[in-house]
This record gives sequence, structure tokens and C-alpha cells, in this order.
Amino acid sequence: MILKPRQVSDELKLMRILNARMELTEKDKQNYLNLEKGFEGELKFDALMENLQQERLILNDLLLEKNTTKFQIDSFHIAEKTVFHFEVKYFEGDYYIENDRFFTYSGKEILNPLHQLRRSETLLRQLLQQFGYSIPLESYLVFVNPSFTLYQAPKDPSIIFPTQLERFLLKINRVPSSNLTTRHSRLAEQLLGVHQIDDLYKRLPGYSFEGMRKGMCCANCGSFDLSVGKQIIVCKVCGKKEAVEQAVIRAIMEYKLLFPNSKLTTVVVYNWCNIISLKTIRRVLGNNFKQTGKSRGIFYNNLK
Ligand SMILES: [Zn+2]
Repeated sequence: MILKPRQVSDELKLMRILNARMELTEKDKQNYLNLEKGFEGELKFDALMENLQQERLILNDLLLEKNTTKFQIDSFHIAEKTVFHFEVKYFEGDYYIENDRFFTYSGKEILNPLHQLRRSETLLRQLLQQFGYSIPLESYLVFVNPSFTLYQAPKDPSIIFPTQLERFLLKINRVPSSNLTTRHSRLAEQLLGVHQIDDLYKRLPGYSFEGMRKGMCCANCGSFDLSVGKQIIVCKVCGKKEAVEQAVIRAIMEYKLLFPNSKLTTVVVYNWCNIISLKTIRRVLGNNFKQTGKSRGIFYNNLK
């Protein structure tokens, strides 16, 4: 049973918007593409895990903290007698390890994901102890991209290569788990209870309202080339149709994610959407968002 489903993270959502609305530096662009790849890999991993037959509680994308250190868990499974922790990587192409250091084939050093796994494993074990659980913990680093190769790979059973995935699934599927109790659910609740809010704005590239491309983009292909009708917006590139109201709400949610502390007013949304009449903006805001203030001081908060 999936207790915490995987969703597009706010960081990836924000980077998608920034990529569409401003010129990213080469480094930021690479970071954005890595996030896309990471997410794609996690979805592939989730699809594989759907085939598991045994009963287990699944928590995805946990951000935990122990000893003032934050650490991310891609996937955590609570089975009857064991808990599993998975770090998922979607590396593509050739890599090598030398003196315990991890390199791309062209020689660029990257963080050794095995070190990352060990670090999270240690902190996770301490957290489980703190909660009063002595259930065995198994940690795995899973490479899910079939075109990944690691030269000079260590013989470490906690690393699962793409060619071993099938056997690995059979193996963990054989671990009996049919009797989950309230103690198991309690552990899941405790972990969800200490799940941290990511302070991601610090990591984002700098941006401002002025420096960003205004307008609406297609929900399907991201194009800004839209034709606006009375009720419907049509993408001139892919032909996708979307109700004006829905498209405006989507644009407002993008704005709110980018500028969480700024006041949402009719004029701000009008300038942001760029191609929608003030009258329509006023109607969409009034119909869908909670209103604060009066006459000229009106601004909007969250969705109704
Ligand atoms: Zn489109």
C-alpha cells in the first residue's frame, strides 16, 4: 500500500517554469535536466515495485533529519520483518570508480552515490532506534537505466545494476510479509510526522518578475503560442485545447509557486498572463480564490 505517493517535487515544478520563462545558465540547465532524469528514474522504479506481491507500506520521497543533518529517502518500504531503503539513480552511459571515487567516463568527478547511501542508512538507522524500532534495515542503491555501465564496480550486494533488477525483485518478493500490524503503521506515521519541508528556494537560480517571460503556456507542450477564444485556449503548436479558466488558474499557481510571499492582485495576474482580459482575470480570481481586503486593496489568497 502506497502511503506517500510520488509527486513532481516543487523544485522540479519551479525549475520547469524557470526553464520556460527565462534563460538558464548552462549549470542551472544541467541541474534542471538532472532533476527531470532523477524523477523519470524514480517513476521507473515505482513501476517495477508495483509488481511486488507481498504486503508492505511504501513511503516515497521522504526528507528526514537526524543530528541536524537532512537526508532524502527516495523510497522506504515497511515489510513485516524488514524495512527497505532505496536510493534510485537514473545515470545514463559509462561511469567508473577509482579509489572509492565516482567519475563519468570523461573523467568528471561526481558525488559517490554509494557514500550517499551509507550516510542516509546510518542516519535512518539512528532515527529508527530513536523511535524504538530494532527491525532490520536493508539499504540498496538501485540503478534503473538499462544503458548504465559502471567500470571497476565494487562487489557490493547493496548495489543493484540494471541487469540484476529482475533477480533482485524476485529476491525481495520472496521475503515473507503478510502480517502488518499497528506497530508497522505507527512507524510509517512517525516517519511522515518528521518529514521535513524542503527549503528549496535557496537552491534555485536567482529570478525576478521583471526578468521573466510573461504569458501563458500550453499544458501539453509548453508553447507560449496560443490563441485565446472566449471560453477555450488553443495551442497553435500541438492543438491542445484548455478552458480559459483552467489555464488562468494554472498560470496563477505557477506565479504563486515562484513568488510565495507576494500579494496576488488582479493587476499582477493580468500582467503575468499577458493575453487575458482584465475582466476575465477578475472573474477567475473571484470565482476560485479567497479574497481579502476591500475595493482598491483587494488581494487573493489560496484556492477556495
Ligand atoms: Zn501545445
